[in-house]
Formats: sequence, structure tokens, C-alpha cells
Amino acid sequence: MKFDVLTLFPDMIVDYCNYSILKRALEKNIFSVNTINPRDFTLDKHKKVDDTPYGGGAGMVLMAQPYVDAYESIQKIDNSITIMLSPQGEPLSDKIVNDLVKFDQIIMLCGHYEGFDERIREIIKPREISLGDFVLTGGELPALCLIDAVSRKIEGTLGKIESADQDSFANGLLEYPHYTKPRDFRGLKVPDVLLNGNHKEINEFRLQKSLERTKIRRPDLYKRFNTSD
Ligand code: SAM
Repeated sequence: MKFDVLTLFPDMIVDYCNYSILKRALEKNIFSVNTINPRDFTLDKHKKVDDTPYGGGAGMVLMAQPYVDAYESIQKIDNSITIMLSPQGEPLSDKIVNDLVKFDQIIMLCGHYEGFDERIREIIKPREISLGDFVLTGGELPALCLIDAVSRKIEGTLGKIESADQDSFANGLLEYPHYTKPRDFRGLKVPDVLLNGNHKEINEFRLQKSLERTKIRRPDLYKRFNTSD
């Protein structure tokens, strides 16, 4: 998997990927992250990448030329998808992450300021993905969320111990609660069943907790789980 990120702030992307699990996976070449800065492509003599909106109004709009030229400079491979991070896109979900992990290249466009000149959308025709119904200052955090969520589903990124199979959403439910040492913390005890070594009972207990938790916190998921095959 190759992630190509168009951003005016490449260090934000590089820095985040330089920690913990992602850092180890990058060192093992399980995936790669490359940044492209549209500012390096602007034809404006002052290196501008944004300008005031036609029609008036607040904020600066990202100009089409540097973004389209930067995008067209990327070498595309066969199984590639282009994503624009945008509050107007489909909300990111585990299902979308599972779709994206099937690609060999994910190209991402991070906006900033007031957002993109509409012609960037018209020319590139990206799939638009949102982190949720709120507005951030830039697309770098959403791009990093996407890199993080997709890369942890690529074989080899997580060790067996951190496996994603049991995580929330993997089977349609929220995950069960976890406990670690000590057995008693401020009078709150680890449930006995987790200490008895009987894996059948432990699995039943965990499934039960998963169901209870999902029913209370996410009735929408619980209903879907109960009506699915
Ligand atoms: N004016 C735009 C609007 O109202 O739709 C918002 C622009 S926002 C301030 C600047 C950039 O941040 C966007 O172009 C996008 O790349 C990113 N962004 C902001 N909120 C986001 C969200 N919820 N999901 C994904 N990207 C977001």
C-alpha cells in the first residue's frame, strides 16, 4: 500500500507516522507514505496557492492550478483511488476502511482555509470522505486518521497481540471491556470469569458484555447485528 498525500503541511503527516506501530510498519516497508506539496507546483511568482473567493466572502480558496498540477505529477498505479478529505463527504466508517484496504495506492487531497476551488473536484473527481459533521482547519488530521485506520488493517502492521479482529465494529458490535493488573483496584475487582482460564466461558462472557454495551451505547449497531445473517 502506498499513501500519497497532497498537503501544504507535509511535516504534520511525516511526524505522526514516526511513532509507535506506524513507525515500525513503515520501517518494515509494509506500507509507505509520500507527501506532495502543491506549493512546489504553483506558477504564481509569489508562490501563492490560495486567493480570495469570487463573489466575495470570508477566507481564502485553494487555487486549482497548484493542486491539479501536483496531483497530475503523482505516478498512479493500476489499483489506485483518490480521496478528497472534506466535511461534505461520506462519513468515515469501518466499512469504508475495509473498502480502502483493497487498494494498492491511496492518493489524498488535504484542504485548508475555506477549502478547494470547485474545479479541483470537477477535474480530479475524487471520492470525498469526511471525519464527521464538524469542521476542522485542515485535511491533515482526517488524512492521518485514514492512514492510521487503513494501515492497521494491512497484514503485518499490527502484531498478533494487537490484532484488529476483536476490535469494535469488526463483527458489527462494540468490543467487550478489558482489564489488566492489579486484580483489585480501589475495591473494583476484575470479573472472576477472566481469571479461571476457561476460554469457552471467557468468550461467552465477552460476547455477552459486547452485546450489552452495544445495545446501550449504539442501538443502531445492535439492531443491525440482530437482523443480519
Ligand atoms: N468551507 C468548507 C465547508 O464548509 O465545507 C470547509 C473548509 S475546512 C475549514 C478546510 C479543509 O479542512 C477542508 O477542505 C478539508 O480538507 C478539511 N476538513 C475540515 N473538516 C473536515 C471533516 N469533517 N472531514 C474531513 N476533512 C475536513
